[in-house]
Amino acid sequence: MTRLTLQVPFLDLKWQYEQLAVELDTELRQVSASGVYVGGEKNAAFEEAFAHFCGVRYAAAVANGTDALRLALLAMELRPGDEVITSPLTFMATVEAISQAGGVPRLADVEEDTFLLDPERVRAGVGPRTRGILPVHLYGQMAPMDPLVSLARERGLFLIEDACQAHGAEDGGRKAGSLGTLGCFSFYPTKNLGAFGEAGLVTTQEQTLWRRVCILRDHGQERKDWHTCEGYNARMDILQAVILRVKLKHLDVWNERRRRIAAAYACGLADLPEVRLPVERPGAKHVYHLFAIRVPDREGLGRFLRERGILTACHYPVPVHLQPALRRLGYGPGDFPRAEACAAGVLSLPLFPGMEEAQVQRVIEEIRHYFGL
Ligand SMILES: *Cc1c(COP(=O)(O)O)cnc(C)c1O
Repeated sequence: MTRLTLQVPFLDLKWQYEQLAVELDTELRQVSASGVYVGGEKNAAFEEAFAHFCGVRYAAAVANGTDALRLALLAMELRPGDEVITSPLTFMATVEAISQAGGVPRLADVEEDTFLLDPERVRAGVGPRTRGILPVHLYGQMAPMDPLVSLARERGLFLIEDACQAHGAEDGGRKAGSLGTLGCFSFYPTKNLGAFGEAGLVTTQEQTLWRRVCILRDHGQERKDWHTCEGYNARMDILQAVILRVKLKHLDVWNERRRRIAAAYACGLADLPEVRLPVERPGAKHVYHLFAIRVPDREGLGRFLRERGILTACHYPVPVHLQPALRRLGYGPGDFPRAEACAAGVLSLPLFPGMEEAQVQRVIEEIRHYFGL
């Protein structure tokens, strides 16, 4: 490259801090000076705020998104051999949580256009050992919840939402985390709502399940020095809770920015026949944790953009059923053709709330240039 060009990072986490530096620094200093670093009312205040945001009665703050999934599944008290159906197109944590909670992961293919768990494939996969369904709200869009809720009711199954990529997403006006038996969130720094480290949370409408998660996250303590089960250390730090409570107030605005950037991408790339754009389900509010396009030569386009100072990523190049760690599940190539086709072609474009209009236009231009326009 000879001329100086505008660099486009895949995401920029410093931007959020710079926006809120004064308020965040004040909160951080208060916690530092308080001498109280774990548990207590600051965590309860964040739990209450996030439950309100999702439109649910209860929220339990935990150490990370994987713990949220694991503790939600443990709260369902799986028996050996109980199966939970999820998507092959997800982060490894979704499947690990099922195994670590004592269940057997089963997979069902995704929808052709949205890459979300296909309710028809789930229905076909429900068997005598199925106990629950674990849809993944991939890339920031909720899985088709109405048919999944009906199926779960009909067959007496629990429904746990992996909402780790979908803070604030909606389906028919109802928020992610409010439609399942339990909802699981991650606040890993790169997520739509991100901590300064690891954090997660479980939502539910049922008090008994909420109590169970709260007991499990704190070594099975029902009250001080009284352990009614063997649990875990899966508590959220107060520092994360105060940061998240400040940031939560800005989440709707940040999600709107994400949606506007996504709309600009969709508009700028609409006439390229080689590019398959993300599809929004009718009635859904997608919050674009990721903007994943599908192209014939993902590596080629990724390299072309990188050489021009534009960074992309891939979520996920290998679907979970083809991961060596999960060979024991007995799946192989060809078992979930839609998930495999997605994994072979998806490329996540740069997208973060602080992204400038000029950066968005530059990405569009270079992609058009790659395709000869
Ligand atoms: C991030 C993520 C998780 C795990 O969250 P951690 O906080 O990293 O443990 C689980 N599922 C999905 C779909 C995710 O994107």
